[in-house]
Amino acid sequence: MNVKSAVHFRRLPRKRYKFERIRFCRRCGSYTTLWGDSCLSCQHKSTYTGLRDVAHALNKRLSRSSLMWVGVLVSIAVFTARNLTELIIALVIGISFLLGYAYIIRQFSSDVEQYRLQKILHKETDIILVGLHKDLEQAEIDLQASRYKDAYEKLREISQLIDNNALRLNKIKCLQHFILRKDMELELSSLLPDTFDKNFTSYLLDVIRLQPQLVNRAVIEYVILYKEQILLLPYGRELLVHVASSAMLVKGYLLPFHNFIHYLVPELHRESLLRLCRQITAEPEKYPELVIRVKNAIKLKYEYDPEFQGLF
Ligand SMILES: [Zn+2]
Repeated sequence: MNVKSAVHFRRLPRKRYKFERIRFCRRCGSYTTLWGDSCLSCQHKSTYTGLRDVAHALNKRLSRSSLMWVGVLVSIAVFTARNLTELIIALVIGISFLLGYAYIIRQFSSDVEQYRLQKILHKETDIILVGLHKDLEQAEIDLQASRYKDAYEKLREISQLIDNNALRLNKIKCLQHFILRKDMELELSSLLPDTFDKNFTSYLLDVIRLQPQLVNRAVIEYVILYKEQILLLPYGRELLVHVASSAMLVKGYLLPFHNFIHYLVPELHRESLLRLCRQITAEPEKYPELVIRVKNAIKLKYEYDPEFQGLF
C-alpha cells in the first residue's frame, strides 16, 4: 500500500492563451513550459522569456527597421532635389509619409504582434515539441526518484499543452501518493485513461467524497463503460453509488443516465434519493420504471420520513 503524504501543490497559473505557458530561451532557442530559472537545454540562468515578449521585441525591431528604410528613402528624395521647390515638396511629402507610417505602425502594433506570434508558433512547432518532451523527461526523472509532488506538478503543467494516455496515467500514479483535501485544486475528467485503470478508480472514489461536483458526463460514461471491472473491486459498488449520487447534482444528467441510476436506486443515500425524487416528480411520465423503483426504495427505508411524504 502507498504511503500517502500531505502536500500543497504550487498554484497552476491561469492563462488566457495556451502559448502564454511557453517560455523561450534567448541563448539557445529552446522552449519550456516549466518554471525553473535555468534553461533545461543550455543550463544558463535567467535566459527564459515569454513568447509574447519575443513577438513584441521582434515586432519592435522590424517596425524600427522599416521606419529606418522609409527615412532613408525620404533622405534620398531630399538630397536629390534640384531646386528649392523640389526640396520643399520632398520634405513635406517625406515627413508626412514618415509620420503617417509611424502612426499606422503604432495603431496596428497589437494586431501585427499577434500575427508575428502566430508565425513564430507555426514555424517553431517542432522545436516547441522537443522542448515539451524535455520537460516530460524532467517529470519522468522526478517520478523515478519518487518525488511525486514535483513530478505531478510538472505533468500537470505540461498537460496544459500536450495530452496523452501515458501522461494521464503518470499523473494518476503520482496522485496515489497524496492525502487529498477538499481545498485542493483537484482534477478529474482531464485524467480519464483510455482504458480501465484501477488506480484511477481509487482516485475517483477519493475525489468524489471531497468534490462530487467534479463528476461530469465523461466521468459517468467512463464508469458505465467499465462497470463490470469496477464491480470486481472491493470498493466497486460504493464507487458506483457515489457516481450515481454525484450525477444527481446535475439536473440534465437524469435523462441520459437514468438507466445507470435506476440500477443503484436501492443503495442511494438519503439526500441523493431525495434529490432524485424531486427530479422525477417534475416529469414522472418520462421515467415510469424509475418511479416504481424509487417508490419501493422509499417504502423500504423512508416510509415515515416527513421529507419523502407527498412527493408522489
Ligand atoms: Zn537555453
